[in-house]
Amino acid sequence: MSDCLFCRMVAGEIPADVVHETDRTLAFRDINPQAPTHVLVIPKDHHATAGLLVGADPQLLVDVVAAAHAVAVQEGLATEDGSEPGYRIVTNTGPQAGQTVHHLHLHVLGGRPMRWPPG
Ligand code: 5GP
Ligand code: ZN
Repeated sequence: MSDCLFCRMVAGEIPADVVHETDRTLAFRDINPQAPTHVLVIPKDHHATAGLLVGADPQLLVDVVAAAHAVAVQEGLATEDGSEPGYRIVTNTGPQAGQTVHHLHLHVLGGRPMRWPPG
């Protein structure tokens, strides 16, 4: 989609600070980080939300979650088989949740204690 910010990043039309890439996923640092580590993990194909992706291409959703964990390991937030010190995956879905980019993205947040409940 030529008018989608994240599709344009996948296409290389807009620069991204890429930290992880597979044939079907891309992960890059958020431009406005909310934690010491704040990485966005996206499918390279355009899908607006996780709910739509799971119906269209469930394996790709698995790939996106696997990429998010790989980013957390790479960033020192977890080990392959463990969850220390820990990280949070968030995907805002729809206006009330504050979704501003309508291309599915998992926020991978960590490097500080996470508050609960979130705002
Ligand atoms: P949402 O609000 O949809 O859950 O998350 C969108 C995220 O994209 C926000 O955290 C915002 O900071 C990030 N973002 C918006 N524009 C850009 C950009 O041009 N580059 C990067 N790296 N992140 C962006
Ligand atoms: Zn897109």
